[in-house]
Amino acid sequence: MNSRAKDVPPLKSSEPDARGRYGEFGGRYVPETLVAALDRLQAGVDRHLPSEDFQSEYRRELATWVGRPTALTRAHALSRRWGAEVWLKREDLAHTGAHKINNAIGQTLLAKRLGARRIIAETGAGQHGVASAAAAARLGLPCTVYMGAVDVERQAPNVGRMKLMGATVVPVTSGDATLRAAIDEALRDWVSDPEGTYYSLGSAVGPHPYPYLVRELQSVIGREARRQMLDLAGGLPDVAVACVGGGSNAIGLFHPFLADATVRLLGIEAGGRGPGLGDNAASLTFGTPGVLQGSYTLILQDEHGQVRETHSVSAGLDYSGVGPEHAHLMRSGRVAYQAATDEEALDALSECARHEGILIAIETAHAFAGARRFATAHPGSRILIGCSGRGDKDMPILQRTVLEGLT
Ligand SMILES: *Cc1c(COP(=O)(O)O)cnc(C)c1O
Repeated sequence: MNSRAKDVPPLKSSEPDARGRYGEFGGRYVPETLVAALDRLQAGVDRHLPSEDFQSEYRRELATWVGRPTALTRAHALSRRWGAEVWLKREDLAHTGAHKINNAIGQTLLAKRLGARRIIAETGAGQHGVASAAAAARLGLPCTVYMGAVDVERQAPNVGRMKLMGATVVPVTSGDATLRAAIDEALRDWVSDPEGTYYSLGSAVGPHPYPYLVRELQSVIGREARRQMLDLAGGLPDVAVACVGGGSNAIGLFHPFLADATVRLLGIEAGGRGPGLGDNAASLTFGTPGVLQGSYTLILQDEHGQVRETHSVSAGLDYSGVGPEHAHLMRSGRVAYQAATDEEALDALSECARHEGILIAIETAHAFAGARRFATAHPGSRILIGCSGRGDKDMPILQRTVLEGLT
């Protein structure tokens, strides 16, 4: 993090090769039964995603249903407090309260074109489940959401939202009964009816072509933000900062800036309670290479290759892997990654709520903690923060942590 902006190494390529690899990462590590389904998805992505027909419908849904473009907000108080020029890209203002809807509506439009009769999705904190339920309701497809039984308990309001929008929520009791088990269960469902079912995956993870598809659908964030920075701030940011769980909001913000050599990119992972295995969910910062859920990437595993459970105060970052493109961007040096602890994130959340009047998600708060650290090290910088979602969903945990500290 000490290199100057002009020293950012040029990026050779961040496009997947024919086998879906970003440098050494990515690819497709799946059982034979999934290969045909992924091939069909790949053909559908190649055919429909670039088509004017798909793009115009996608743009129309983003504008008239999701509420895009989302605002770019000058954070006056944070700028003063941090000694920086701080701008927020407001995905918290998107329909259903986070960036996830950009991906969910895009994949559901694709599903219709591929002739699917139903949508399935996995969800951890419930945000992708809510976005998928909303998109499926909008486009008239039935939707089944797999969710770890532990998360069904922890995220009751989101389960209710999904049901109100007509989705069937299936609690998964196998494995760790959280996100990882939910993804496994969704893949099993997909294998049993790969033609009639469309699996809408919620982050830039999994086997090719999902990391690519999700990135393409989320890049609207960075394309808008780049244009808005030029229009409203009068220039590009010195750094763009985003939180990284699976990595979809971060890659969506970063990708349109990759060719801008003066723009540093900084991803912030969940540092949890600290660096020990099991105490965090920072796969890039603390992980090692391995295969998880169809992709070769950096994962949190023990010395025997057993994937370990993770800890983060934020359910949406609590995953033991990360999208392969991020692993590649880290290795290439184009993007820097750091971890912010639970405590730093909650502190940043409180500061933003108190001084900007914006209650951000706990996931998002990790990006703010990282941005604040950057501002301290680089006074006067122009900082763009990806404000991935709103914090209303986090009220139960904020009640037990931040609010109890205030009273
Ligand atoms: C799901 C979620 C995240 C983490 O997912 P990514 O795929 O890493 O973006 C971050 N912020 C919010 C608000 C979320 O809902």
